[in-house]
Amino acid sequence: MTPTGAELHSHVAELYPLCRSITGEGLRATLRNIAGRIPLHLSEVPTGRRVLDWEVPPEWNVRTAFVATPDGRRVIDFADHNLHLVQYSMPVDRIVPRAELEAHLHSLPDQPTLIPYRTSYYTPSWGFCLAHRNRMALKEDAYHVRIDSTLAPGSLTYGECVVPGESVQEVLFSAHCCHPSLANDNLAAIAVAVALAQQLAARPRRRFTYRFLFAPGTIGAICWLAANRAAAARIRHGLVLTCLGDPAPPTYKKSRRGTAPIDRYAAHVLGGGGRIREFSPTGYDERQFGSPGFDLPVGCLMRSPGGTFAEYHTSADNPDFVRPEALADSLGVLTDIVDLIEHDEHWRNTAPYGEPQLGRRGLYDSGQDRMALLWVLNLADGRHSLLDIAERSGRTFAAVAAAAAALAEAGLLVRASASDEGRSPSPPPSPAE
Ligand code: ZN
Repeated sequence: MTPTGAELHSHVAELYPLCRSITGEGLRATLRNIAGRIPLHLSEVPTGRRVLDWEVPPEWNVRTAFVATPDGRRVIDFADHNLHLVQYSMPVDRIVPRAELEAHLHSLPDQPTLIPYRTSYYTPSWGFCLAHRNRMALKEDAYHVRIDSTLAPGSLTYGECVVPGESVQEVLFSAHCCHPSLANDNLAAIAVAVALAQQLAARPRRRFTYRFLFAPGTIGAICWLAANRAAAARIRHGLVLTCLGDPAPPTYKKSRRGTAPIDRYAAHVLGGGGRIREFSPTGYDERQFGSPGFDLPVGCLMRSPGGTFAEYHTSADNPDFVRPEALADSLGVLTDIVDLIEHDEHWRNTAPYGEPQLGRRGLYDSGQDRMALLWVLNLADGRHSLLDIAERSGRTFAAVAAAAAALAEAGLLVRASASDEGRSPSPPPSPAE
């Protein structure tokens, strides 16, 4: 069931050519692609709707956009690269003097071969992005600028996949899906999230209900929060997923709370090989989930943080920059974090007076990690969770969880009542909620 790094990478490459934005057909096509792999419920939020302190903008769609010389030679063409057009550019069709055109161009003098990524969602404007060396070659006195776009009443689309578990308490994974042809930011996280949802659905049992949200950055998360206060209140653990395909080791940015279980789980899994950052109200949608009114325990898992790598928000963030082995490693990290979320429970030793006789129960020579068995029996007093026991004993969490399962099977452990709080016999929420 676990896809290879190459399979994850091919999903990134498949989505790369679509021109996504915070609204529009490219975003819908991306969500339809995801819906071809996992059950996805799509929501359309109409233009003009008030969402928290924001308003859903007009829907933006583009057919063609180019800058041409007076004799019709196209010097910048949206058909060549989605990044050439500033997102949310208004329609234009006229001859523009070069000096005026220059005010609408964006390039990177320090990275003269790369096309930058620019947006203007909330300020009506137009513009083109191009390699600086191509910009230096523009010598005509005037150019024909044509942008055949529409900014019209429509809707903003987001998608959700809910994988139900025994509890209505939820784990949220959220990935932004509004960037056009940029691979690490954030197609890598989309591909990894889809694979994680498939893996979770294939598990025989899930303690928690898992919700995967694919929404445009900022405004999409705000739309979801505005419409899903009840679901938000059920979130016990969450991660924003971004930039999961570059070669750097994983980075975890803590939730606003800083001491939530997810903060501990991510730090434990990343161990010495990863990097831990404190929360800040910047970055991705962790700042919406972690706004003070919601204050959800949602951190952010990434490899290179946005803005810290040379390819960030440029045409160099393409499928070649994303490594199959990094995608596979990111999925492995998430799988390990999910194992902690699922199994970090509190147990109680049912025979706490003296050491129970393991041999009589077939546990002494069972091939189990005997040290892990002894540590679990000793610390399973209802106050230490399995992660507490793993950290104190120096055994791996997997070994401690396996020992607990074997001891529970033998009747030597029962779940401590504290860990059962919030369990509900009611059915899991529907994705349409
Ligand atoms: Zn970005």
